[in-house]
Amino acid sequence: MSKEPILVTRSSMPTMEEFIKEIEPIWDTAWLTNMGPKHQQLEKELIDYMGVEGLQLFTNGHMALELCIQAFKLQGEVITTPFTFASTTHAIVRNNLTPVFCDINPQDYTMDVTKLESLITEKTCAIVPVHVYGNMCNVAEIERIAKKHNLKVIYDAAHAFGVKVNGVGAGCFGDASMFSFHATKVFNTIEGGAVTFSQPWLKKELYNLKNFGIVDAEHVGEVGGNAKMNEFQAAMGICNLRHVDTEIAKRKAVVERYRSRLQGVAGIAVTSEQAGIQSNYAYFPAVFDETVFGKTRDEIFEALAEENVFARKYFYPLTNSYDCYKGTYSVEDTPVAQWVAKRVLTLPLFADLPLADVDRICDIILKK
Ligand SMILES: *Cc1c(COP(=O)(O)O)cnc(C)c1O
Repeated sequence: MSKEPILVTRSSMPTMEEFIKEIEPIWDTAWLTNMGPKHQQLEKELIDYMGVEGLQLFTNGHMALELCIQAFKLQGEVITTPFTFASTTHAIVRNNLTPVFCDINPQDYTMDVTKLESLITEKTCAIVPVHVYGNMCNVAEIERIAKKHNLKVIYDAAHAFGVKVNGVGAGCFGDASMFSFHATKVFNTIEGGAVTFSQPWLKKELYNLKNFGIVDAEHVGEVGGNAKMNEFQAAMGICNLRHVDTEIAKRKAVVERYRSRLQGVAGIAVTSEQAGIQSNYAYFPAVFDETVFGKTRDEIFEALAEENVFARKYFYPLTNSYDCYKGTYSVEDTPVAQWVAKRVLTLPLFADLPLADVDRICDIILKK
């Protein structure tokens, strides 16, 4: 095994010099956290970049989602999908709400909106759909159904930073959207996250919830948490934001190379561009149908690992099959999600992945 390992992702970083220049002023003020100047600057820059009306920063995406759900003071059932990261389902359950799992569609792996309405009961209070891999949900149809049944819509947009729908930012849909700025995401603040929204009351509400529910020096109005983004995280974000468009363009070139090699191969399904949607090329999922392709996903995973290439079974397992939810939910309710989760691999994808490496990865996959 002579070749350098190729990992599934590699975090985007500014040069060390750029970062040091950005953090230097922190030594003048000794203002390390609690919504300091870097925090305020990043918030403004992101509102501008994402084209949203309101945005609150958080220390990570999960706490952003958990506290955003708390802000709506919901009770009862929340319709979501199990084809996601642990965070989505956990955020619902940790708010004492009951997740109801809707299946995904086999084209872009987001919520199957044709199955959504049949899951609505008088207990349903909200929908938490997930924009997966940089693909957008059918936001128009979700909005129509939510309006008709008077439901809140909170998107898990952890994968959707920089994505646009007919020129409109991904954070402009539903009542709120959560973005993750984790090291492995398209745009990172080391750890970090944000909630975007248009209703003005959410600004103060989210601000208070991420700061223990403190209203002022002598008043604590709510049982909040601590989920403030610190100044060093914000400084990393300010640097990375300068380069994110270039990074997305490089990701696009990697994805196009993968598509040129794998699209149309019998037994491999790869995603195409969604009509009207400007993607961020966050992930490149390939779904292997063993009955046609001749090899299982796990065999491909192993074959790549033997050549020092590390893909990821993502999302697998489904959240409704986790040990912590055993006996509570059933994967039988979401057969498409179950089918895909058993067969999907996200292939290595990051801005600086050489196209020659993409070719090597495809050669291993296609070797009979
Ligand atoms: C990354 C991710 C999260 C959680 O974000 P963190 O910033 O890691 O807390 C939530 N949902 C999805 C779909 C994710 O990929």
